[in-house]
Amino acid sequence: MNQIAVAIDGPSGAGKSTIARKAAKTLGFIYVDTGALYRTIGLAVFRQNFDALNAQEVISVLPSININLKYTDNTQRVYLNDEDVSDLIRTPEISLFASRVSVIPEVREFLLDMQRNIAQKNNVIMDGRDIGTVILPNAKVKIFLTASDEKRAERRYIELCQKGVNTSFEEVLNDMRERDAKDASRSIAPLKKADDAVLVDTSELNLEQSINTVINIIRNAQNS
Ligand code: C5P
Repeated sequence: MNQIAVAIDGPSGAGKSTIARKAAKTLGFIYVDTGALYRTIGLAVFRQNFDALNAQEVISVLPSININLKYTDNTQRVYLNDEDVSDLIRTPEISLFASRVSVIPEVREFLLDMQRNIAQKNNVIMDGRDIGTVILPNAKVKIFLTASDEKRAERRYIELCQKGVNTSFEEVLNDMRERDAKDASRSIAPLKKADDAVLVDTSELNLEQSINTVINIIRNAQNS
């Protein structure tokens, strides 16, 4: 039987991961957070003291990287060479590294099959920037999730504070705008709404309303 794929793309802080995780739990799908893959490569580059803007340095790290995703209770853990780095990749510093390495075609190529293989074997809700446009162009459901800059930065700031990360609202807003601009302007797999994606703006929706909106879109598509 063919697996069902749901692609959720959008800028950082739009609520993609929280909404996708909860919707996946309700629907019994696996939630795949693809940002974690770019973050893991960013972490590996950071640990080598390499410059994430230097493509040759970043590419030289790839052969020594083995990334694995494991799922328990609908929760994704990401492993870098058998080390669980799921929490280490969440700092603002690694966010920036992730964004920088993600513009390098060899990095995107390196992660392509891993993402497609997961979707081939499981019913997935996969979130990222290019899932509906590049990774899973035939996804049954495509959603482009967004919200205003300030709302997104506010949500990310609260999330980081809760995790004990030391940062300020301004730092989060500036980092986010820098990453968004990079994601949207890069020549390879830029952040953009697929023509056949449904646009969901969560600026004025609370979490529950956002999750229900997404679940309803998926259920309607499943029934069609
Ligand atoms: O989603 P998250 O903020 O964790 O992603 C970290 C970075 O990885 C993003 O800023 C983006 O540059 C990159 N990314 C990407 N393509 C994806 C997912 C993430 O380029 N599918």
